[in-house]
Amino acid sequence: MNFHIAKTMQRFPNSIFGDLKAATIEAANNGQHIIDLSLGSPDMPPHEKIRHVLSEEAKKASSYGYTLTGTQNFYEAVARYYKRRSNVTLHAATDIIQTIGSQEGLVHLPVAFCDPGDIVLTTNPAYVAYDAGISLAGATSYYMPLEKEYDYLPNLAAIPEEVAKKARLLILNLPGNPVPAMPTESYFAEVVAFAKKYNIIVLHDAAYSEFYFEGDKPLSFLATPGAMDVGLEINSLSKSFSLAGTRIAYIAGNPHMIAVLKQLKSNLDFGIFEAIQTAAVTALDMAEEITDTLRTTFASRHRTLMTGLEELGWDVAPSNGGMFVWAKYPYPLSSEEMAFTLIREAGVVTVPGTAFGTAGEGYLRLALVQPEATLQQAVERLRDVTITA
Ligand SMILES: *Cc1c(COP(=O)(O)O)cnc(C)c1O
Repeated sequence: MNFHIAKTMQRFPNSIFGDLKAATIEAANNGQHIIDLSLGSPDMPPHEKIRHVLSEEAKKASSYGYTLTGTQNFYEAVARYYKRRSNVTLHAATDIIQTIGSQEGLVHLPVAFCDPGDIVLTTNPAYVAYDAGISLAGATSYYMPLEKEYDYLPNLAAIPEEVAKKARLLILNLPGNPVPAMPTESYFAEVVAFAKKYNIIVLHDAAYSEFYFEGDKPLSFLATPGAMDVGLEINSLSKSFSLAGTRIAYIAGNPHMIAVLKQLKSNLDFGIFEAIQTAAVTALDMAEEITDTLRTTFASRHRTLMTGLEELGWDVAPSNGGMFVWAKYPYPLSSEEMAFTLIREAGVVTVPGTAFGTAGEGYLRLALVQPEATLQQAVERLRDVTITA
């Protein structure tokens, strides 16, 4: 049949991840042993208690109804976690909305707050879901560069006045993916002042809030004075609790904005499997125990990979958190050529920096999702590989 494809689809090109996967399969078929550092999908299983609760709840006949906008128990667990972790008070009934992974929340949120043609301030490079959401809303991205001299924090002072005036939404992600920048108190204060001045909603993506290596926890945006007036924070159980496949996340913050999102979502979906929500309560209530282990593991992985790459002459963005190494390689290849060469010649799968925006040219993103010994092995293969332009 000769069917019509909506013009909207032109804004949703095929992602590079499919091509990387195909190249990886081909390399494996050619006998290459694969070390996959591409997706940020945690390699460690969720805590045994979480899996126990999930399986027990799944056995109950009463677990299978629609949960609509989510269970009270889940919302109360999120509120307890915010109070313990960040001393932020959230009202379970009004200040939080659950989403089917943060991906779903990120893609739908701009639809609720932006008209076609409105500007959304986002970064280059950035996590790919932001542009998908901006496209779905028909809004326009204004890309803020992430520069070393500003510690990879978007420089709000460089945004032209007429752009700021037309912007509806500002999306931030700290610790960041793919660039592992960290939030600071003074930066978040600047964000709140900027948002108030120009009447812009702030969405802070805190997916890596528990991934830090030394010192203090990354700040919650909502702990910043005035943040509850201007915005929202989205967080997920995917990374911190190794629950990526269960698809559970939440957005917290300004209750008037949350009400708009609840209205939108009540038209889109009927909630998450109740057993998953109950397992998420267990996870959030034991967050400290789980994330302490996670943190030490990722800190030593980060040290190993960073040191190894630096010895090979790669320029690694310094970082104290996140799940990735963002590195500039010393070869005259485009980042796509580089990524596909490494798959073919070394069996090491990374993501070309350009997957996250034009500013990623010359960089690769390496996810810390393999044990230290495997990361060490990856470095050795990168040392031995012959790269020809
Ligand atoms: C992985 C990731 C997410 C989301 O994951 P979900 O599994 O959809 O919750 C959100 N933001 C960033 C920056 C991520 O890297």
